[in-house]
Amino acid sequence: MAASQQRLFGTNGVRFVPGVSHDLDFVINLSEAIGTYFGSGEILLGQDGRLSSQALANAATSGLLSSGRDVAEAGLVPTPALQYAVKAMGFKGCVMVTASHNPPRYNGLKVSGSDGVEVPHLDEQRIEKIYFDKSQTKADWKTIGVARNEPSVIRTYLNGIRSKVDAKAIAERKLTVVMDLGNGAQSVAAPYLVEALGCKLITLNSVVDGNFPGRGPEPTPDTLKDLSSAVRSVGADLGVAYDGDGDRTLFCDENGVVLWGDQSGCFLADYVLHKHKGGTVVTSVASSQAIEAVAKKHGAKVIRTKVGSVEIARTIIERGAVFGFEENGGCLYAPHIAVRDGGMTTALMLECLARKGMSFSKSLAFIVPRFYQAKTKVEVGPKSVPAVMRAVERLAKGEVERIDGLKIWTDARSWVLVRPSGTEPIVRIFAESEAQQGADQLIRKFERVVKSASA
Ligand code: MG
Repeated sequence: MAASQQRLFGTNGVRFVPGVSHDLDFVINLSEAIGTYFGSGEILLGQDGRLSSQALANAATSGLLSSGRDVAEAGLVPTPALQYAVKAMGFKGCVMVTASHNPPRYNGLKVSGSDGVEVPHLDEQRIEKIYFDKSQTKADWKTIGVARNEPSVIRTYLNGIRSKVDAKAIAERKLTVVMDLGNGAQSVAAPYLVEALGCKLITLNSVVDGNFPGRGPEPTPDTLKDLSSAVRSVGADLGVAYDGDGDRTLFCDENGVVLWGDQSGCFLADYVLHKHKGGTVVTSVASSQAIEAVAKKHGAKVIRTKVGSVEIARTIIERGAVFGFEENGGCLYAPHIAVRDGGMTTALMLECLARKGMSFSKSLAFIVPRFYQAKTKVEVGPKSVPAVMRAVERLAKGEVERIDGLKIWTDARSWVLVRPSGTEPIVRIFAESEAQQGADQLIRKFERVVKSASA
């Protein structure tokens, strides 16, 4: 990457294609910068199951040691397990080698502080400055760090989750769960959690494999057809699926209908607000308006942020919120830790369904008002973005929100969000309405406007 760009971190850590866009020297130098940023103490290091993760983890250890930090190597763990262990076990911070849900060729680094939460964007810029200025601390033979193995991350993580739910109530309900692990990192944690909570478990794609041969690393309604049919054929109470590093969770009901993250997020928000007798929920500007209706029932507040889990996590901490979610299936339960966590989200859902005592689909219909979404993206060069946004704004007649891009309300229950991506030359368009047709029409209308203004 050219020094003039001065950016390494995207919306969720540093991502690249090892051996193609960046080599292992890059990982060593960046990890030296990360170690320099932390300044002292022992750093916990983890990795997902990608083909390049072991090599990157070794390079990250080298860089951190070279900057004088000590390193505790956790090996293959889900991202949220590493983040929780940092907080629970008192490390200075952690580095996770992962590219989350990206295709197999990608990998990356994600940096969290002593609270386990991804470091704020300003701190990412401090790390980038150290990297580009080449001002990394270089330890000498006396001050160079020491690496050791840290075997208790998964145990700490699973115990932490179990302590936050009513394990007895879950066990008594004897739920049957089908879990699609997508060959990802939750394979080493989530099945043990669900079995320990007394559920009957059937797993799919449970062998960790960096080629992601089962259904790819990104769970979507399209990639979860095997999960749907398995839930129906065994008569399970629910299905659950994770992304490659186990922080995002999608569910399907007992009929095999896969819920988007907005629906499961609103459903769990209702449960968490009930469990904690109110509180604040944080979500991005792109999530469904259903959350406002859910929160209103509890006299609770909703705070909207820019898109990105780091924004949501940091807002939860600043505002003392109890829960956060994203439309892609990320849920953050603050009493555990303010990060997206597939294991915690699963345990909360099991507790919620166990307490409701009726089927998943019936409970959902009862709680979450149904809205319909559509989304698309249009390739737009960075130079055309201002003209595109001006053209979009000219169409606004009603209320406009400017938290991230432009969110235009076309009537009391319909909106469209037009948002330039922070990392790719594209503009994303989201729409929501009371009927699918309404959302689709909004998408087509604004797609035409974006395309003609960028031509
Ligand atoms: Mg992820």
